[in-house]
Amino acid sequence: MQLAQRLDSVKEPQTIKMAKLSRELKAKGINIIDLSLGEPDFKTPEHICAAAVKAMNEGFTKYSPVAGFPDLLEAISIKLKRDNNLNYAPNEIMVSTGAKQSLYNIVMSLVDPGDEVIIPAPYWVTYASLVQLAGGIVKYINCGIDTDFKLSPEQLEASITPNTKLFIYSSPCNPSGSFYSREELAGLAEVFKRHPQVYILSDEIYEYINYTGQHESIAQFDELKNRVVVVNGMSKGFAMTGWRLGYMAGPREIIQACERMQGQCTSGANSIAQKAAVTALLSDLGPTYKMVDAYKQRRDYVIGALKKMPGIRSNEPQGAFYAFPDVSSFFGKTYGENTITNADDMSMYLLHEGHVATVCGSAFGDNNCIRISFATSMTNLMEAMERIDKALKKLNP
Ligand code: PLP
Repeated sequence: MQLAQRLDSVKEPQTIKMAKLSRELKAKGINIIDLSLGEPDFKTPEHICAAAVKAMNEGFTKYSPVAGFPDLLEAISIKLKRDNNLNYAPNEIMVSTGAKQSLYNIVMSLVDPGDEVIIPAPYWVTYASLVQLAGGIVKYINCGIDTDFKLSPEQLEASITPNTKLFIYSSPCNPSGSFYSREELAGLAEVFKRHPQVYILSDEIYEYINYTGQHESIAQFDELKNRVVVVNGMSKGFAMTGWRLGYMAGPREIIQACERMQGQCTSGANSIAQKAAVTALLSDLGPTYKMVDAYKQRRDYVIGALKKMPGIRSNEPQGAFYAFPDVSSFFGKTYGENTITNADDMSMYLLHEGHVATVCGSAFGDNNCIRISFATSMTNLMEAMERIDKALKKLNP
């Protein structure tokens, strides 16, 4: 089969590979606890489901405008003002089939072959693949655990060249849970102000899953707003992963370009999900905050348990639902046939010896860490932490 060369830059995400592996082991009767997935374990709140049923009954089952229904664009505009103090008119907003498609649209609309795109590591798996698909050159900046996996203004300044076109990051971050404060963003904003050719893609999909109580967006810096595109969506904060609905807000020209792109790919996003999203965004956020309380409890437990394990180093995630411990002190250690030489080995070891599925950090551009999702029950997490602890204790120098 002669498949197109561009497929070389589209690898199967490690997250999906791990989920597949753990399903295979489960099918063999092995009791695996799966902490590899980036998906809320909660159901979509009832009032949102009811809005979808109502939309179907009212006949919203046909094609929608490419950019999204006007009432949803209006609802997003209201949300951005209400929650983020950001002023975006409905025609500066566009809805897509998941935040992932918003990211795709933006990268395809901005990046030409040869353009440099800066991505601080660790980063969400999809960013690099999208840039490579567009023919762009990814420039990674390593941000390790010592700086809470965050980028400093000096590192940013040193990595920008005249060919830099775009900067992509998420805050709160998948996989590290790191969150940029207003002051930290101000430091980065100062650098961006000196380099007007650089666009900024700010992925804020974990906005609501934030343990600091206050989300911050780089779009809040007025001098940058005309080159920032904010991406957000319904998947995480409203437990709506399967509904496939995301959105972006940014300069009109970029929105129009993305509309052209999407018009030839998928057209308007799912009509029923859009109507449900209007209700989700404009209703009381109580159900979201209830989920966040549960995530916070789990985070406190998981981080506490990890910090007690000798040899493990962990940051304190301020958002999202992942722990990203550094396991590098185990490199070189063995148990039976297993030698841990890197984070990939550790993740495999924990799967086969501890029966806990995690994701190796190399999938996110960090070879020292593994990602542990705490979007599962406390019972599962308690059992999983015990299993991890036991498996680690078997490793000898
Ligand atoms: N951005 C980040 C950082 C994510 O972790 C995810 C999903 O895991 C997405 C975007 C994609 O979200 P959606 O389900 O809206 O496509």
